Amino acid sequence: MTRFTFYGGAGEIGGNKILLEDKDARVYLDFGQSFNFGSDYFYDFLQPRSVNGLECLFEFDLVPRVQRLYNPGSLRFTNIAYEKPDVDAVFISHHHSDHVGHLGFLDEDIPLYMGHATQKIIETYGDLYRDLVDIGVHNNVGTFRSGDKIELKHMLFRPVHVEHSTPGAYGYVIEAADDQNIVFTGDFRRHGPKQEYTDEFIREAAKAHPCCMLCEGTRMTPDPETQYSESQVYEKVKGIIQDSKGLVFANFAMINIDRFNSFYKAAEECGRTFVIDTKMAYILDSLREKIPDLPDPRTDENLKIYFRLAKSCRFCDKDYYVYERKYLPNMVTYKELNNAQKEYVLLTNFNKLMELVYIQPRNADYIYSSSEHFLEGEDNEDMRTVLYNWLSHFKIKLHKTHCSGHAGKADLEYAIKKIKPDVLIPIHTQNPEEFRKIHENVIVPDKWGSIEI
Ligand SMILES: [Zn+2]
Ligand SMILES: [Zn+2]
Repeated sequence: MTRFTFYGGAGEIGGNKILLEDKDARVYLDFGQSFNFGSDYFYDFLQPRSVNGLECLFEFDLVPRVQRLYNPGSLRFTNIAYEKPDVDAVFISHHHSDHVGHLGFLDEDIPLYMGHATQKIIETYGDLYRDLVDIGVHNNVGTFRSGDKIELKHMLFRPVHVEHSTPGAYGYVIEAADDQNIVFTGDFRRHGPKQEYTDEFIREAAKAHPCCMLCEGTRMTPDPETQYSESQVYEKVKGIIQDSKGLVFANFAMINIDRFNSFYKAAEECGRTFVIDTKMAYILDSLREKIPDLPDPRTDENLKIYFRLAKSCRFCDKDYYVYERKYLPNMVTYKELNNAQKEYVLLTNFNKLMELVYIQPRNADYIYSSSEHFLEGEDNEDMRTVLYNWLSHFKIKLHKTHCSGHAGKADLEYAIKKIKPDVLIPIHTQNPEEFRKIHENVIVPDKWGSIEI
């Protein structure tokens, strides 16, 4: 018998935190933070004190009150006494915070397993955003590559890469007791340049004839499907750059390497230089050892690194952080962009709008190529108004093009029909009941509830 307990990821998009118990083995699949974490109780400066660890989070049942799981520091002000952990391991699907965000609470002796690229991305983001990305201290982090096998007691975990909106994403095929196999998809899609990764995962999962499949369903909604692929995004970006009579601004999530490649290639095809910031340069630099074919931000002819005007006003190395200085030889500033606006595509985001005052764009275009939430959500109307005011002030034309990091309904159905699990458990979705339309034996998990197979 296998038991799953859903401390997160049930009835919500994200927040995966799933305890899998099989005979005497106890492992977690992901240990993430929900996207709306704490929003019912905390606001602006009303926030839990990090020094108090889990005390305040237990008060509102925001983190499960489970014994023998957390580290002594996190338990210090709680009424749970520290005991050695009884969890054998945590298996991570990928680095997004809704899958790793609460790792920092865990006892440091619990072994973690993650993809080699996942570890590199977490390390790189930790260097750049020390206060934001912190998975805590862990004494035993095992990294794997797609196809590796990890033995744990009587179980065998086989991670297989999948395509998602970030590199280093994996699903798992898990051999449990009594020759029962379990499939855990993580987050995946199959409409980008790495579709073959997901298809390989689907093949491996199908071969296992699983008794049960935990399947993400971010885009499983009752609405009609609109599906864009990464190659359609690339074509649209290229068309906008070709038609533009000025500077083109690009706004996308930096770790979306497929999107970076789409803009980089489109700029190159149109004879323009792609200008990125020092953070993106640092990310490319650190991921180059893991992802072949990424351009070298120090020497690539089609890339330049933007340096903002700083204290000395002379663009000298003392003005910048140590990690930024190695990109100074490939520097470009507002002056070059101002003088030759049609020759560049500039990576930007909301917080960098101030550069427009220096660049003084003329006839420019702004391509918003990230989650629709920013432009359509109800909770950020103020920010959106500020963005629109800036674009209007500089007479910049706004364009939108994006495709999701998650499989659409047709691809979810394709995966499920190929894998043919006996039981289907929808996770990472707000519409689990929709899965009943494509599988006859769906068990919908409840938050903090258990399912036994
Ligand atoms: Zn997710
Ligand atoms: Zn994700």
